[in-house]
Amino acid sequence: MSSRSRVAFLLLTVLVVAGPMAVPAQQAPSPAQQPPTPGQPPPFETKKIADDVYLFRYGGHQSMFVVTPDGVIATDPIGYRRPQAVRTYIDEIRKVTQAPIKYVVYSHHHYDHIEGGRPFKELGATFVAHKNAKTRLEALKNPDVVLPDIATNDLHVITLGGTRLELHYVGRNHSDNTLVMLLPKQKLIFVVDFIPIETVQFRDFPDGYLPDFFESFDKVLALDWDRMIPGHPYAGGRLGTKDDVRAAKQYMVDLSDAVKQAALAGKCFDDAMKEVKLPKYEKWANYERFLPGNIERFCEYWGRGY
Ligand SMILES: [Zn+2]
Repeated sequence: MSSRSRVAFLLLTVLVVAGPMAVPAQQAPSPAQQPPTPGQPPPFETKKIADDVYLFRYGGHQSMFVVTPDGVIATDPIGYRRPQAVRTYIDEIRKVTQAPIKYVVYSHHHYDHIEGGRPFKELGATFVAHKNAKTRLEALKNPDVVLPDIATNDLHVITLGGTRLELHYVGRNHSDNTLVMLLPKQKLIFVVDFIPIETVQFRDFPDGYLPDFFESFDKVLALDWDRMIPGHPYAGGRLGTKDDVRAAKQYMVDLSDAVKQAALAGKCFDDAMKEVKLPKYEKWANYERFLPGNIERFCEYWGRGY
């Protein structure tokens, strides 16, 4: 491949294939070092979503930061195997404000979202995560993950410079420690990995919990918000709506129903993974790639009871 088409391919791999726990990009050159490629999105970008709320994207991962007169609340460092992403994140915050970065809030404990936070720690930020994330991270001892200073329970509220950020635990889903971050005044939520937009769920739901997963959608729908910032740039990078949450839930229901029938017919695992199709969703990203893994997980559930 020419170097230009190689660049385009790498960017496409990162941006299109990236689901939750996206394929590590350690083979790729630093996006920050890449020249712009015609027709491709820039390697990183920061978008203003509301007066005081910004979306930071680096490659195929997204984070949200909130700017107040008294300081900044940042979220996932998204520096997995790419420390330059964290430096870029801080530089992007500094283009908006010189206020101190007071908090870093982890959406959940998966490394592709939270690795690399040390530069934030060195700036004095307090790290916040759900208590189950803290327990897991303390056991895993990844040297590139800053341990949380504050462990939250079902609801934790951060108030800074007149802005209220609510951290809601909506139960076990894609992990046992996902926090949904709600800005009630702006009617915005930041939701990572468990509600992909027009995108099939990642592989075989690694670290996922059935049947609890289904309840999470209802708890998110019960919160008062209009726009959802996701942890990956799905569906062309647009924000999500409550209809997207309903569609993501319906996908899980349809998947579950179809695999239950296949399990009853004795087709789990291999035949079901080949034969079960959900044509309603064939236009969704990762349909061909991840549907068999999704089926495998529900074969475990319906076919074996685990
Ligand atoms: Zn994840």
